[in-house]
Amino acid sequence: MRNNCVFCAIMDGEIPSQKVYEDEKFIIIKDINPKAKLHYLCIPKNHYKLLEQMTEEDLDNIRYIFKKIPELKKELGLENGYRIIINQGDDAIQTVFHLHIHLLGGEKLPV
Ligand code: 5GP
Ligand code: ZN
Repeated sequence: MRNNCVFCAIMDGEIPSQKVYEDEKFIIIKDINPKAKLHYLCIPKNHYKLLEQMTEEDLDNIRYIFKKIPELKKELGLENGYRIIINQGDDAIQTVFHLHIHLLGGEKLPV
C-alpha cells in the first residue's frame, strides 16, 4: 500500500470506493461512515498529511478543488448548501493522514 495510506490505496484501485468524480488532480468519493445524509471526501491525488507540508503546486491544486466544488454541487446533490471541513492533526481527530476535504450536506446540519 503506497505511503501506508488508505486513500492512496483507493486511488490505486487496491481498496474499493464509491467514486463520484475524478480528474487529473483529485477524486471525490462517498465517505464509508457518513456523518450527514450526504458525506463526500475530496482527495487530492498527491499524498501529504497537513497544509503546512504542501508545496506551492499542491496549494494550487487545493485552489483548483475549491473552484471545482461549486461547479459540481448540483450533481452531488449539494445545491441547497454544504459544509466544508478539513481536519488537521490530533486535536481535530484526523484519522487518515492524506489531506482531504469533507463535504457534508443533503440536510440541515447542526453547528
Ligand atoms: P478524517 O478524520 O481523517 O478527517 O476523516 C477520514 C474519513 O475517511 C472518515 O470520515 C472515514 O469515515 C473515512 N474513511 C476511512 N477509511 C475509508 C475508506 O476505506 N473508504 C471511504 N470511502 N472512506 C473512508
Ligand atoms: Zn495517501
